[in-house]
Amino acid sequence: MKKVLVVGCRKSGVYSALLAKKVGYDVFLTEDKDNEEVRIFLPLLEAQGIDYEIGKHSFNHFKDYDLAVLSPGVPLSAEVVKVIKENSIPIVGETEFAFVNASSTTIIAITGSNGKSTTTALTGHIFDVSGQFTVTGGNLGTPFSELLYENPHPQIAVLETSCFQLETVVTYKPKVAVFLNLMENHLDRYSSMEEYLTVKKKIFMNQEIDNFAVLNHDDSIVNGFEPSIKSKPYFFSINEKVDRGAYLKEGKVTFIDGVEESLFDISIIPLRGKHNVTNVLASVVSAKVMGVDMRAIIEGVRTFKGLPHRLEEVRVIDGVLYVNDSKSTTPDSTIKALESFIEPIVLIAGGSSKNNDFLKMAEKFRGKVKKLILIGQTAREIGDASVRVGYGDFIIADSLAEAVLTAKDNAQAGDVVLLSPACASFDMFKDFENRGNAFKNFVNSL
Ligand code: ADP
Repeated sequence: MKKVLVVGCRKSGVYSALLAKKVGYDVFLTEDKDNEEVRIFLPLLEAQGIDYEIGKHSFNHFKDYDLAVLSPGVPLSAEVVKVIKENSIPIVGETEFAFVNASSTTIIAITGSNGKSTTTALTGHIFDVSGQFTVTGGNLGTPFSELLYENPHPQIAVLETSCFQLETVVTYKPKVAVFLNLMENHLDRYSSMEEYLTVKKKIFMNQEIDNFAVLNHDDSIVNGFEPSIKSKPYFFSINEKVDRGAYLKEGKVTFIDGVEESLFDISIIPLRGKHNVTNVLASVVSAKVMGVDMRAIIEGVRTFKGLPHRLEEVRVIDGVLYVNDSKSTTPDSTIKALESFIEPIVLIAGGSSKNNDFLKMAEKFRGKVKKLILIGQTAREIGDASVRVGYGDFIIADSLAEAVLTAKDNAQAGDVVLLSPACASFDMFKDFENRGNAFKNFVNSL
């Protein structure tokens, strides 16, 4: 029996281990942390008779394995990776491992700096509506190995594929690879934008001529990928006509591949914001190249609910709409959110610092943000940036609860109260979901 060493005891690692066991490996899982988040998974391992260690890596025993599977959270620079390499054990990531065990599944992979989750969820929904047995996840919610463990032979897997997952792919070969955009990100893990881009482009690495690349024509870097890709390129654009792919013609989503086909009016898109029209176009191209019929595409777009914490409408109170955009952890995302409303906005922003520059965002405040309420570590910094661009209408609040109350006092019928922090959440919350849920609870108790 072949032996596999799984590194990491969170969802990705645990489900790699479960999948490995299910497909016949002898499995050992190792995790150097020992805390509640790790321990919660132990019953799952024990129920399947999988051996493990937590709170340490027993490097001396890392021999005689046929394969090591790394969780995406483990950087390639980690000590444990060095030891595995010294022992000449081949290393793959969770995504690669799952892929190798999904030979009958067609993969639609989605990457980019922003919009991955929304585009993945929407694409998955369209394929679902089309009647094909579809699983949706990857970096979004459910790791591929868990999807496969629960559903051994899906027809289609729509997978958000992050750069951390792409670091450790070897043969991963999506039938359709979507690249949404490229912005500065994760420069804590990569030494430069070039390195980040090189990793991201691994999504195309194994594609061949009978596969598809779906590229954002409006992103100057992504638009230039074509010469380095072997698969057949399709483009999407909200600004101008493309040679092959999807674009907007007089407000209608139009697909062109030799012949031109008018699909639907953008008014049926239930999501706010131009950036979401971009995401819809990317999903439409992915579905079209796979032969999904027009009725399923239209029905899928029309009935898509959107994801929580992304411009999520929480409630209308006294004519004021409360919107949870807690997933906005960068100034660029908050700019996108501000551009998604014509109503006056009471904006709640601030959180923990990712060393972003807030000036460009602050320049958007005048004429749009009637009151700015700042919270968290970056409150002062965002306030200073606002003053520098001549916007002084802000208040600093001590907590999110206080910010919601202050927002209520400053809003009137027809306004929007928008939580779009432009910052990470770790100064006050466990993660963006926790922050968004707290916001929703405060709003619901108003
Ligand atoms: P990801 O999974 O890549 O983080 P999400 O779908 O969760 O993407 O969206 C995160 C944020 O990114 C959104 O709140 C929005 O501000 C921004 N965003 C979404 N789609 C796009 C896009 N196509 N271009 C630029 N920004 C986007």
